Amino acid sequence: MSRLVLLGPPGAGKGTQAKLLSERLGVPAISTGDIFRANVARGTELGRTAQRYMDAGEYVPDAVTNAMVRDRLAQPDAAEGFILDGYPRTTDQVRELDEMLAGSGAKLDRVLEITADPEELVRRLTRRAGIEGRSDDTEDVVRTRQQVYLEQTAPLVSTYAERGLLRSVDGLGEVPAVTARLLDALASDAG
Ligand code: ADP
Repeated sequence: MSRLVLLGPPGAGKGTQAKLLSERLGVPAISTGDIFRANVARGTELGRTAQRYMDAGEYVPDAVTNAMVRDRLAQPDAAEGFILDGYPRTTDQVRELDEMLAGSGAKLDRVLEITADPEELVRRLTRRAGIEGRSDDTEDVVRTRQQVYLEQTAPLVSTYAERGLLRSVDGLGEVPAVTARLLDALASDAG
């Protein structure tokens, strides 16, 4: 039960919860956003490509993101499980992930959706801008990211629901309370 995807709008708390679940479950948290930001910080070619899109609040092209995730999932620490945070985000990425897993005879166990009120999310992200200084946390870019999420990523919720993999959890409240809800959702068989 340890090949997991976290879905949810920007600011829902995927990154925070992915790290906590990673500790609890003993599998790596793999955040495409973190990998892109690390590449931006190191000034790699991947970082230079990604930065333009990230600063505009747009998705990095699928071909770039898919290749990066394929490499990461091939690392030995992901062989027994992983928590994907921020991937897949498009229908093309869903198909690619299916292929990557099929190639190693694995399959997803659960997709956990973290839900939250959009206005609360704008408040959280603009507050985070003041703390972490992420260049994509300004109010305009945050609203673009929400729109892109609605158009390109929200449809994945029904894709995974149809496969019987989806569990949705309320992302409002204290961090440990949300973690507890996610662990409950993992333990339960019925949606
Ligand atoms: P958030 O979920 O708060 O928007 P992330 O750190 O997950 O933040 O992502 C930040 C940015 O990184 C995105 O706006 C996008 O430009 C890029 N990114 C992350 N994951 C993907 C992905 N799977 N496909 C395309 N772009 C991505």
